[in-house]
Amino acid sequence: MQIYETTTKFPNTSSTGPGCTIISPPDQSTPKPLFSGVVLDYAQLYAKPHNGVHKPFNFLPSCSMGFVKGECESGHQFAKLLLCGKEWCPDCGADGSASNKRRIARWWGKVMSMSEMGYLVVTVPPQVRESFKNKAVLSAFRTYVKRYLQRQGYDKGLVRYHWAGEDGHTWHPHLNILVEEGFLPKKVMVSLKRDLGQYFKRMFPVSLKGKEPKINLWYNYANPESEKFEAHKIHKLKYILRATLTKIDVKGNAKHKELARILKGFRTTSTWGKWDKDKENTSELASLEAGKCPHKECRKPLKWQGGQDKIIKLNNPNWSRVILKPIDGGYYEIKGVLPIPPE
Ligand SMILES: [Zn+2]
Ligand SMILES: [Zn+2]
Repeated sequence: MQIYETTTKFPNTSSTGPGCTIISPPDQSTPKPLFSGVVLDYAQLYAKPHNGVHKPFNFLPSCSMGFVKGECESGHQFAKLLLCGKEWCPDCGADGSASNKRRIARWWGKVMSMSEMGYLVVTVPPQVRESFKNKAVLSAFRTYVKRYLQRQGYDKGLVRYHWAGEDGHTWHPHLNILVEEGFLPKKVMVSLKRDLGQYFKRMFPVSLKGKEPKINLWYNYANPESEKFEAHKIHKLKYILRATLTKIDVKGNAKHKELARILKGFRTTSTWGKWDKDKENTSELASLEAGKCPHKECRKPLKWQGGQDKIIKLNNPNWSRVILKPIDGGYYEIKGVLPIPPE
């Protein structure tokens, strides 16, 4: 029995615009005839409109404003859950969260294309950490380190700030960097340390009282010959992309609130150089994140409806009619729209 039209376009959900149909939830107790000879069991249909692993309506992050709708050039339709992506959000900051999965999908091709993998951690000395509660300072430091590495011949790399220590709240900004490199001679590390010491002394003369601070650097690398090399890359990718500032109280603690304000809109991750040989990621999520249709046979460009007024709020009654098939990372395919139940 055909229970919905798969060709039906998602309804116009603007509350004032033309074509808007606001419906009340169907009466769950009495199935009503829609066409002669066919009885639709609405109670059953509406109870499980999302035939997937998790039901979106009881798995929605509290931060989400709703969905945006997208369509590929072939007409496949998708819904993308809007997420705040903040590290301290109980949903977005969790390991394995939709937000985290999306980030991993965006970096995967780059990380997996690396033929060697060196992992460098550059910390900020305790004496100047307070000064790093500033977007311009954070950004300048990252650029400085990146340029230093470029001068050393690293023509591409990935960088991500971790903000806090293991406790999830102590301010301890440090850069996590992945470069295509194996063993790093000691003299390179010594020279980087010296260079960074001078940088901090020059930039923060008052906090450091004119002295060069002690610099903490960590470096390790993976052996590409090892059978665990690929697994190691994935492990590093996930480790670096995890959220660290997860335990701050942005409502009750004034300092934490201020920190959240400073970090708002700051790009925690960045890459440099040319990545012309990214390993192809054929996952549906990676396609969606790259703006392409996730259907293997399609992969055509996908357009998301932009603008505040295009956001489909979660309390929009039209959602109760949409049949969504979960994909991954808070994306859904719009499989159809249930007919408006008869009065
Ligand atoms: Zn969130
Ligand atoms: Zn498509």
